[in-house]
Amino acid sequence: MATSSFVPSRPIPYGRQHISPADEQAVLDTLRSDFLTQGPQVAEFERRFADYIGVEYAVAVSNGTAALHLCALALGVQPGQRVITTPITFAASANCVLYCGGEVHFADIDPATALIDLAAVRRLLESHPRGYFHGLIPVDFAGLAVNLEEARALADEFGLWIIEDACHAPGGSFLDGQGREQRCGSGQLADLAIFSFHPVKHIATGEGGMITTARRDLYEKLLLLRTHGISKDPAQLQRADEGGWYYEMQTLGYNYRLPDMLCALGLSQLQRADEGLARRRALAARYDAAFGPVPGVELLHTDAGHAYHLYIVQVADRRGLYDFLRSRQIFAQVHYIPVHTMPFYQQQGWRAGDFPHAEHYYARCLSLPMFPTLSDEEHQYVIDCVLEFVNRS
Ligand SMILES: *Cc1c(COP(=O)(O)O)cnc(C)c1O
Repeated sequence: MATSSFVPSRPIPYGRQHISPADEQAVLDTLRSDFLTQGPQVAEFERRFADYIGVEYAVAVSNGTAALHLCALALGVQPGQRVITTPITFAASANCVLYCGGEVHFADIDPATALIDLAAVRRLLESHPRGYFHGLIPVDFAGLAVNLEEARALADEFGLWIIEDACHAPGGSFLDGQGREQRCGSGQLADLAIFSFHPVKHIATGEGGMITTARRDLYEKLLLLRTHGISKDPAQLQRADEGGWYYEMQTLGYNYRLPDMLCALGLSQLQRADEGLARRRALAARYDAAFGPVPGVELLHTDAGHAYHLYIVQVADRRGLYDFLRSRQIFAQVHYIPVHTMPFYQQQGWRAGDFPHAEHYYARCLSLPMFPTLSDEEHQYVIDCVLEFVNRS
């Protein structure tokens, strides 16, 4: 194989942020301004992000997990309420329900996409009395959009709200039944959507997150919950204004704000979002062309709206491939260990065997390097190494 000449000068991770000189300058400018935490960059980042996603409202928060927590609070999750999510996600998608005292349930994945199987969700809903479940948290896993048109119909039939976990899919979309593009996080079908700006995600601010929605009522709740439940807005005050200092704590909120410096970084990164997405899609197309014909490498279903946070292959000897790539300085990763198999969730009563498709997927999946600054040379090296392993085993 052609693995001979190129040797990576440092390990190639599965995801890596890119910080440009313009990003550095944006952070420095904010650092030298009057605003260390809440300043003009926050609202500007929210406005531009909302434009990018194509949604009415955006609320910047300290990270994606805080975004999920605030969404669950804004939708009124409380003890006795039950919410359905997928076992193939980062644990935070499920944990947010527990933060509010609710109960998490899972529906198995569709093996072709690794997304939550809406037919399995329907079976779960139909096997309980109406009103038993309150919400659904689908995840645009790897960057492939969940069909929210179908999810919305199901949610309406059973009286559920929807939080779309779109952490993997800024810029992603699917075509609805009428051939219209439905963008991830646009709030047209889900009540709320969330994003993360963790360094491996499309837009990186270190820590950071965003909630998007088309619902003004939820938007106003989120603004309050993000900052201690405190309002200074004259229009929102419940008592008479007592002077310039006056504010009211109206509900139990949190400090989940995103500082101005990080919003400046996010704004700067956002300018390269389309470019980064195009590069991700080009890398995926080359991976597809290289692995598509290879027996022994199974690919997930793809689609033109895929945002490719991850590029995943499934192989019989996943451990072997992981270790082999590691020996070649390629640090692939596994997404995800099914949430219901985590020790904590086992203590909650879930068992290995509960979601066979998720568990079968987990046994075989591996996320290969996928980030915009992966060079063509590095990319070819990754492809060659995978083929070398698969062809000899
Ligand atoms: C990254 C991620 C989160 C959490 O985001 P943080 O910013 O790390 O808190 C939640 N859900 C999914 C699917 C994620 O990938």
